[in-house]
Amino acid sequence: MTEQGCSQFLQPLWDFVRSREHIIRSPFYPAMFSFITYMAFCLPYMALDLLCLRIPALKKYQVQPKSRPTLGMVLHCLTHTIYSHLVFIFPLTVTYWYWRRPIQLQSLAPGLHRFILDIIACLLLFDFQYFTWHLLHHKIPWLYKTFHKMHHKFTATFALTTQYSSTWEMLSLGFFANVSPVMMGCHPMTEMAVFIIHIYLSVEDHCGYDLPWATHKLVPFGLCGGPTHHDLHHEKFVWNYAPYFTHWDKLFSTLAKQTSKQSRD
Ligand SMILES: [Zn+2]
Ligand SMILES: [Zn+2]
Repeated sequence: MTEQGCSQFLQPLWDFVRSREHIIRSPFYPAMFSFITYMAFCLPYMALDLLCLRIPALKKYQVQPKSRPTLGMVLHCLTHTIYSHLVFIFPLTVTYWYWRRPIQLQSLAPGLHRFILDIIACLLLFDFQYFTWHLLHHKIPWLYKTFHKMHHKFTATFALTTQYSSTWEMLSLGFFANVSPVMMGCHPMTEMAVFIIHIYLSVEDHCGYDLPWATHKLVPFGLCGGPTHHDLHHEKFVWNYAPYFTHWDKLFSTLAKQTSKQSRD
């Protein structure tokens, strides 16, 4: 397929996005988009938490079957997410919007090959940035206690624990996620796709379910960690520092595989 043909493949979707340009240009858009996308990815897992109470057959998909989030835990995490979006994310994204405006949405969509390669490059770059940040914030006690301990409040993950973290951690991850597509000169459509994929993968990391379509089952050769990889990090506090892929943990000998459910029950 030629680059022009590839561009035409994504053009209808890009035209649809551009038809909503008046929304994208709003200073309220980034914070609203971030919150709505996050909740949209969390809600199916929250529904699954409720369904597991009524349908015992679903329990086999739970990474830690003996742990389940209480209403108090859910409300605590939800309140923190709303507070973070109102007090930090909203003012920062408005400032960023003011700095970058006017936002120009070019008329041509990116080529499909370039779109896919840029997404993979952004995810790999973020994975390295977060692995380094995460390892440092575990190995240096002051950094752990001051900035990262909050995210480890829950030793069994559930969807809303994804964004239960300190302001410094939230801002660091937001910076890593947003700066790489800009630095690489990605198309605005790629920037949006990368942002959505980051939210999806981070929620999946914390969902607490090992479902048939989990990334570590879809991507071959054990390249991705998936929810079991990150849940084990929350349970044991050590091992599995990379968020998405496994190569950095393999290189630094910090990779641990999930033990059998029986031994963890
Ligand atoms: Zn950690
Ligand atoms: Zn986590």
